[in-house]
Amino acid sequence: MAEKIKCLIIGSGPAGYTAAIYAARADMKPVMYTGMQMGGQLTTTTEVDNFPGYPKGTDGTAMMEDLKSQAERFGTDVRFGMVTKVEFSDKEGGVHKVTVDESTEIEAQTVIISTGATAKYLGLESEQRLIGGGVSACATCDGFFYKGQEVVVVGAGDTAAEEATYLANICSKVTMLVRKDHMRASKAMQHRVNKTENITVMYNTEIDEVLGENVVEGVRAVNNETGEKTEIPVTGVFVAIGHKPNTELFKGVLDMDETGYLITKGKSTKTNLPGVFAAGDVQDKEYRQAVTAAGTGCMAALDAERYLGALA
Ligand SMILES: Cc1cc2nc3c(=O)[nH]c(=O)nc-3n(C[C@H](O)[C@H](O)[C@H](O)COP(=O)(O)OP(=O)(O)OC[C@H]3O[C@@H](n4cnc5c(N)ncnc54)[C@H](O)[C@@H]3O)c2cc1C
Repeated sequence: MAEKIKCLIIGSGPAGYTAAIYAARADMKPVMYTGMQMGGQLTTTTEVDNFPGYPKGTDGTAMMEDLKSQAERFGTDVRFGMVTKVEFSDKEGGVHKVTVDESTEIEAQTVIISTGATAKYLGLESEQRLIGGGVSACATCDGFFYKGQEVVVVGAGDTAAEEATYLANICSKVTMLVRKDHMRASKAMQHRVNKTENITVMYNTEIDEVLGENVVEGVRAVNNETGEKTEIPVTGVFVAIGHKPNTELFKGVLDMDETGYLITKGKSTKTNLPGVFAAGDVQDKEYRQAVTAAGTGCMAALDAERYLGALA
């Protein structure tokens, strides 16, 4: 027998927990499945300095524990488990069937999807070891820690160009490593990069190794045409080669853009199916911040509450 609930929240990042706080306080008795990464992406970082309410900054894992406690205080049922199958209804007031860990069946009147996105990395052993020790996938989050220092940005698209120009305002020097002989970024973004004095672009260049034991001390770059290797002394390595939204489960079910991000309607969190809402990085490739994820989590719970209210 499937368990029948009012509100199911998939994912336990800032979007999911904020949705849970609002849904629980609106008496929707939300059930949350956390996925494999309880607390979401922020549990992979030590310092979070830009989330409002923490004047001294906080640790990512500690912050997510705070959000979990707050959601549970109002009665959110937080469960460890992975949603493995969805059968969403396309009818107003229809029941959405969801399977957890390939066995538990849930029937929910509303579903809030907050499965986030995963930053892509190069996959080098040295890079993986130094994530949090100078390797980052988010200039907006971590750039401040490299004030007045020299950093590299890896990537050739709009995000990489944007991260490079953002960092150029904070850091003394930014070296952009571009794998091909040209950038993929828009002409306008390339122009911004080229006219920024403290950005140097190295084309046909890839990272061979990130140097340093516990913290980044530099990178060894290799020219993929000549094979020539250069050591660049830097304290920060910003990998900007894209993100992958966690939306495999919803392929062919929910509308998504060409890169797999869920599409929401106008300024709401409504997906193309009634009673199914999306919040956080899973529907946002622009801002990708904890506070914006939390903001849309709040919106999703309010949208779900209004949806249920209109059915009554
Ligand atoms: C290293 C790092 C440092 C960062 N630093 C900052 C910072 O300082 N400040 C800032 O504002 N932002 C920072 N960010 C960005 C921030 O972490 C994200 O914007 C934010 O976490 C997005 O929240 P979310 O709730 O959308 O999803 P996520 O945090 O990505 O969480 C997604 C959740 O969905 C779950 N999930 C996925 N699939 C399933 C499934 N099938 N079933 C059930 N659950 C599922 C996962 O287990 C996870 O709990 C950082 C990101 C990284 C990677």
